[in-house]
Amino acid sequence: MDMYDVVIVGSGPAGMGAAFTLIQKRPDLKILMIDREKVSTGGMRNDCKMNFTYPIGFPVEYWTQEVAEHYLKEVIDFLKPSFLDKSNIGVYQKRAERLGCTLLEIKQTHLGTDGGLLLIKELLARLSEAGVDLSLGEAMESVNAEAQFIVTEKREIGYKKLLVAPGRKGFHFLQDLMRSLSIPFIDNIVDIGLRVETRIEHYPIVRDYYDPKFYFPEKVRTFCTNSGNAHVVRERYATNRGDQWYSVNGHAFAPDARHDNGLVNFAILKTVRFTAPLASGQAFAENLGLQAALMGGGQPLMQRVGDFRLGSRSKEASFSGDLYDFEPTLRTCCPGDISLAIPAKILRAIWKAMKNLDTIVPGLLHPSTIMYYPEIKLYANKPAYLDEYFRVKEDIWFAGDGAGTSRGITGAWASGIRSAEGMLAAL
Ligand SMILES: Cc1cc2nc3c(=O)[nH]c(=O)nc-3n(C[C@H](O)[C@H](O)[C@H](O)COP(=O)(O)OP(=O)(O)OC[C@H]3O[C@@H](n4cnc5c(N)ncnc54)[C@H](O)[C@@H]3O)c2cc1C
Repeated sequence: MDMYDVVIVGSGPAGMGAAFTLIQKRPDLKILMIDREKVSTGGMRNDCKMNFTYPIGFPVEYWTQEVAEHYLKEVIDFLKPSFLDKSNIGVYQKRAERLGCTLLEIKQTHLGTDGGLLLIKELLARLSEAGVDLSLGEAMESVNAEAQFIVTEKREIGYKKLLVAPGRKGFHFLQDLMRSLSIPFIDNIVDIGLRVETRIEHYPIVRDYYDPKFYFPEKVRTFCTNSGNAHVVRERYATNRGDQWYSVNGHAFAPDARHDNGLVNFAILKTVRFTAPLASGQAFAENLGLQAALMGGGQPLMQRVGDFRLGSRSKEASFSGDLYDFEPTLRTCCPGDISLAIPAKILRAIWKAMKNLDTIVPGLLHPSTIMYYPEIKLYANKPAYLDEYFRVKEDIWFAGDGAGTSRGITGAWASGIRSAEGMLAAL
């Protein structure tokens, strides 16, 4: 059996943050990083916009401002980001405040989907040069914690310390792992909402601020804004029973005026926290995803704001004509009526937030604006961590979005550093 001092599962930012910390502090360690895919599948590969201001991306239950800023400094020192300029923020902030909303001012960078791929390749090359073994296209299936080895579809790999950082896509995998290791966890929080797509002239704030972070009453916020060469995409999920559903998402390529499609998209999400008797946010979210798929003939739903306001479903015809003058970038989506699929409390809060947003940035509720549903974020696994380094068992650590320690690239990277520090102290 191959033996390593440290095995890292997942080559996203959490795995990267851990790998670089370990190899820089202990070049003598034998480290292996594996990933189920040839290229990591999370935010570094999709749009790669990074936020460097607390609390964006840092769940407050695990990160105080002081701790997050300590690690953010390390992330900045390592990645050396060039922050994007912002302008006219004060104008939007004043309008927001008058409505009881907040616009956070966040330090950001944006590499784009293509720029993110270059970054991933460069980071992997640096890890490999530093002596970290990489095995891309190899998936962890299970672990034997007593005998300290993991099982992949190809082999068994022995470890002294194990970090599992499988991201949101690894949400199910992580839950199965926690059950097999008797690690208690809850997942009672979930973010549910829409992705909005419109012309940049209907949401011109993005010319002043790439990814504006608005917070509205009732735990609603904007999230993951993309513009320029921007596209809405769908992500496939499957329940434990194998039923499939899609969540939508968005990304943009690096700025390039030649390919600018003139569109912007962003998520508007409501955080929902469940209490007894319903304990699982994931179970609830999956049911909503399945309901949308049922209504959409297996696809997510889309509706023009003009149709929504009139209480009519969108049809194929809603996607042509002089008023509805741009094509949806996600074509594999079913025109329909999102209000039939979204629980009333969630829809009311989101629609109210959109009306507020339309007052702060007039134009958003143009009839042509498209609302895609569902956009669901499954990153609320909360394992019972044994210490501040995200240790879950004697020799096992978790980190990143799938493990609930982050909600973004920088938070995931910081989580990886933190778990590496725990491993270093234990080695
Ligand atoms: C489409 C999309 C766009 C996003 N855009 C942004 C953005 O612009 N900015 C931002 O801050 N955040 C963004 N995010 C969120 C972002 O993914 C995360 O915050 C961040 O990448 C989380 O890092 P991570 O290391 O926890 O997980 P990930 O980056 O998701 O990496 C986890 C890795 O683990 C691998 N893996 C999973 N299971 C296994 C297994 N069993 N065995 C081996 N490998 C496995 C996966 O293939 C994956 O590469 C986006 C997410 C998605 C899905």
